[in-house]
Parts: sequence; C-alpha cells; structure tokens
Amino acid sequence: MKNAYRRPIVPTKLTRSKSYIPLDDKTFIFDDDGFPIPDGISLLKPEICSAILCNYSRLKQDSWGEYDKDLWYLMEDFDKLCDKALANYPLYDRIVEYKIDGLQNIDIQEKIQMEFGIKHSLEYISSLWRNKIPKLIASTAEDEYLDNYYLNVEKGKYKKCSRCGKIKLAHNKYFSKNKTSKDGFYSICKSCRNSKAKKS
Ligand SMILES: [Zn+2]
Repeated sequence: MKNAYRRPIVPTKLTRSKSYIPLDDKTFIFDDDGFPIPDGISLLKPEICSAILCNYSRLKQDSWGEYDKDLWYLMEDFDKLCDKALANYPLYDRIVEYKIDGLQNIDIQEKIQMEFGIKHSLEYISSLWRNKIPKLIASTAEDEYLDNYYLNVEKGKYKKCSRCGKIKLAHNKYFSKNKTSKDGFYSICKSCRNSKAKKS
C-alpha cells in the first residue's frame, strides 16, 4: 500500500482531475492514544472503505489505465489492502467478491451455504458488508500506517507476545496498557487476551 491514506484529497479531484497530485506529503498525525487521525479520502476511514466497496466496479472502470490520476493509486492501494485484510477471512472475501459481482444478499446467502455449509442470516451478511468488512480493511490500513511510521519515521519498539510469540508493535492497538509493567503494556497481546476471555 502506498500513500493514499496520507494524502488529503477532495472528492472532485479524485474523479474529475487529470492532474497528478505528488505523493510527497509525509505528515503523520496521531491522537493522544497514538492512533492515526485520518484526513480527507483516507483508507483509514471505514466509511471510505465502505464507499469504495459499494462503488467498486465503477471506480475501477473510471481509474482503468489512468496512471496519472490519484484514483488509480487509491484503487491500487485498496486492492492490496483488501487482499491483506481478507486473507484470513474466506467468508468475508467471498461476500466481497459476490457483492462486487452485483449479487443480491439472498443469492449470496445460498452460495455461501453451498460453499461453507452454514446458513447465515441476511442481516448478518448485510452487517458484514456494511460494518465489519469496511472496519477490518480500515484497521489493516491502520496497521500499515503504524508500521510505516515506526519503521521509517520514528524508531518504534516491537515486542514478542509471551503467549502466541508473535512480534508486534508495542502500541495500544496490539497490547493493552498496564501501568505496573516496565514498558507500560501487558506481556500478552490483545488478541490473545481477548481469545482467552472468550474461552473462560
Ligand atoms: Zn499473542
């Protein structure tokens, strides 16, 4: 993913301008908890991801071959981001595929039941499409933004989760804050803590 989420762009420029906006804006803005604050047309915003998903075919057509347009870069970034975000979620991936093909939820429900053997309610499919999937894509954009910042701009601290052994950025997004620990975070990552809480 390149720089689309860092560049504030107004919608009219996205669809109408032929002029290329240079990718030299390296401003990173964070809130008090260290989370990036999105600006303009940013893939950090679930509502932007949702809007792109809902208009995917048209945007893709509009951007086709227009390598000098921001829209082309935005769609490139978006495609890569989706691949990454949905890689571990075959159900979500399939819903996105069918939605982009223009299928109705009722047909998607049937196809999913045939492939995955589970009949999901139409409400569930709709809420995945409207909420969960755009949020997951935006959250993946946030992961990339944080990594990019802490690898290239400011040297970040990465720590190994004492349960799953994965190395993650020592950041509020991945480790809960713990005042009594040396580095201010728990030694077990958030996803391990959450899955433990679900089991018990
Ligand atoms: Zn873990």
